[in-house]
Amino acid sequence: MTTPQTVDGSTAQDTAMVELRGIHKAFGSVEVLKGVDLTVARGEVLVIIGPSGGGKSTLLRCVNLLEPVSQGQVLLESEDLTRPGVDLNRVRRRIGMVFQQFNLFPHLSALDNLTLAPRKLLGTPRAEAETRARALLARVGLADKAGNYPRQLSGGQQQRVAIARALMMDPHVMLFDEVTSALDPELVSEVLDVMRDLARSGMTMLCVTHEMGFARELGDRLVFIDGGVIAEQGRPADVLDHPTHERTRQFLHKVL
Ligand code: ADP
Ligand code: MG
Repeated sequence: MTTPQTVDGSTAQDTAMVELRGIHKAFGSVEVLKGVDLTVARGEVLVIIGPSGGGKSTLLRCVNLLEPVSQGQVLLESEDLTRPGVDLNRVRRRIGMVFQQFNLFPHLSALDNLTLAPRKLLGTPRAEAETRARALLARVGLADKAGNYPRQLSGGQQQRVAIARALMMDPHVMLFDEVTSALDPELVSEVLDVMRDLARSGMTMLCVTHEMGFARELGDRLVFIDGGVIAEQGRPADVLDHPTHERTRQFLHKVL
């Protein structure tokens, strides 16, 4: 990530892509997020780790308001998404999300999986959408799979289609929730390669992952979430090699 500049007199605030302020999230009486403050800069690759049930997925889902927050503010490029009257469908187009389960439409080819949203939501003409879709499939190494249905693709290929599909809407930020966790080990690297390419292209990324190699190589910052709070954060190598909290130490001991 390049250091935020203020050459045009803008403040550091303007370089924030995502800002979470005092986020609380409860399901019924169970508070899952207990006050999370987090600012992700434009172009930053943020890696989120932590034990199962700690609130990582919920946090990502609060960023695009797939989960309405119980308290606090979510800002995207300085726009408060949590204020009443915001057109969530409009702002969500700027946020791409990829899940552990690929969630492709099984009855559509790879190409049609990519073109569906732009055609239906933006009214993009089919030919234009298909040109763009083919370019994105090529970018994720699947130029020759445009006509394949999800069942004809490996898990790694399906996940790359899912990433390409998210990119069709020209997102300003991408959310990745354990996107390699359901893959056979030999298929993990082809998906990480795509994420590496995306990170290097300057995409702002929030990645929940257990891939510590990825975290170390590409993460600008690592956040450890436990019990609904950020327990520790810092440069990935610092946190991974010298965790300061006992909970982080215990967690890393189990996964490394
Ligand atoms: P992580 O992704 O870190 O494993 P999650 O964000 O999925 O954690 O879950 C955090 C906690 O919130 C868990 O205890 C989970 O059971 C609970 N939770 C998540 N989603 C819901 C929901 N829709 N309804 C009720 N509880 C939920
Ligand atoms: Mg999760």
